[in-house]
Amino acid sequence: MSDISFDTRAVLIGGRWQPCASGETLPLFNPSDGTLLAQIARGAAADIDAAVTAAQAARAGAGCRMSAAERGRVLLRMSAAVLAQADELARLEALDVGKPLKQGRADAVALARYLEFYGGAADKVMGETIPFTAGYTALTLREPHGVTGHIVPWNYPMQIIGRSVGAALAMGNACVLKPAEEACLTALAFARIADEAGLPAGALNVVPGLGEEAGAALSAHPGVQHLSFTGSVAVGRLIQAAAAKHTIPVTLELGGKSPQIVYADADLDAALPFLVNAGIQNAGQTCSAASRILVERPVFEQVVARMAERYRALRVGPALDDLDIGPVISARQREIIGGYLALVQDSGLQVTAAAPLPTTLPASGYYVAPTLVAGVNPAHRLAQEEIFGPVQVVIPFDGEAEALAIANGTAFGLVAGVWTRDGSRALRMAHQLQCGQVFVNNYGAGGGIELPFGGVKASGHGREKGFEALYGFSTLKTVAIHHG
Ligand code: NAD
Repeated sequence: MSDISFDTRAVLIGGRWQPCASGETLPLFNPSDGTLLAQIARGAAADIDAAVTAAQAARAGAGCRMSAAERGRVLLRMSAAVLAQADELARLEALDVGKPLKQGRADAVALARYLEFYGGAADKVMGETIPFTAGYTALTLREPHGVTGHIVPWNYPMQIIGRSVGAALAMGNACVLKPAEEACLTALAFARIADEAGLPAGALNVVPGLGEEAGAALSAHPGVQHLSFTGSVAVGRLIQAAAAKHTIPVTLELGGKSPQIVYADADLDAALPFLVNAGIQNAGQTCSAASRILVERPVFEQVVARMAERYRALRVGPALDDLDIGPVISARQREIIGGYLALVQDSGLQVTAAAPLPTTLPASGYYVAPTLVAGVNPAHRLAQEEIFGPVQVVIPFDGEAEALAIANGTAFGLVAGVWTRDGSRALRMAHQLQCGQVFVNNYGAGGGIELPFGGVKASGHGREKGFEALYGFSTLKTVAIHHG
């Protein structure tokens, strides 16, 4: 089914593609039409154990004792190979996740760019010498954790693998990757590409399987020294609890309810495309989706009208048709989103605008009409909970204090956008917004490979992306030498 030759039913352990220990498989479905796409391995505790052992062996072997520069070169070769296969990776992601091809291609290009960034950075992570008591030389060494576990969701498999596995490998860790059971073809394809690009056997092991089986086994394994997780708040808490049993560090990226705040003095023409796209991209299944749009009252009606116009023009269709929006990941996800849409009517609110769903869409696909709801009370569930679907709420405000109170008034704190021509106000907002990233007069900024990313509050902790991730995937050792 792919130009990149890999067995969808296999796990990758110590450089060997093999069936999982139980030999059982799980079905993958194509969200665009609900048909069976492939069978994947139902990896579980025995496979995770073997993968951790293989990663430990790789750490002890010549592969992981490569110099930092050599590691960097391998990552750069992987980057070039990913780029060469970007169209094929986009096709796999379209079939597996339901992403329009252009989005899948953008994800593949981002994966290549992460590998390029971390490949280039591998030999530039340095320790320090510390002025210390006379007769001593004191210095710090940045060392890999050892074996790192990576539990990845279905919404952006390639980008999330790039930012976590890429940084971990650059620091000299050996990785065990557990992709999501809903979508893992590009994780397997990536492992094949990495293998062919010369990544040492065992440096990357891949075990697909269920969260409560393979995922739980990985987070509880005593041979793992660091866990990186992206997904739901509920599972993030389980991961942190499992990590606490072995006192290992975790990086948690748990989504959000991110606002874009539009002041009356903003350049609305510049803001408009960002307001809508950042909400509906990937059918709204984006941790940093701008699901709340806060608009200063003098321009509220105008912004709502212009957003509504864009919504009505959005084209929804099968991923391979490469329109604006594809289906959501699963029937279950469509049901969850449907529950939130039912709240609109139940609460006496009205749909402001919705994209049309063509009658020609496959009835068995998981389609949801992108929906805009204006005038929602900030305390309403629609304005508080992560819907993870193409639904945006628009909330009016008066002045900075109210904008901040609404923006900071959820359990989450991942990303915020501020649109204003007043530079002082932009800086005041940037300081007071409770979140991990603030964008002024833009949102998402070029994919943000170089920009540290992560949350506060229920959005998680730890930082991925940028140089900061390299610190997260390493540990600092202090050496004090007495020489008299
Ligand atoms: P999830 O948290 O259940 O799954 C994410 C990953 O964790 C998957 O690989 C899964 O197999 C694994 N996992 C599940 N249970 C586990 C366990 N007990 N131990 C270890 N690993 C486990 O997310 P989901 O079910 O795919 O989506 C549910 C909700 O999570 C979504 O509606 C959305 O709100 C949120 N979500 C957020 C992000 C994000 O980028 N922050 C991504 C996906 C989902």
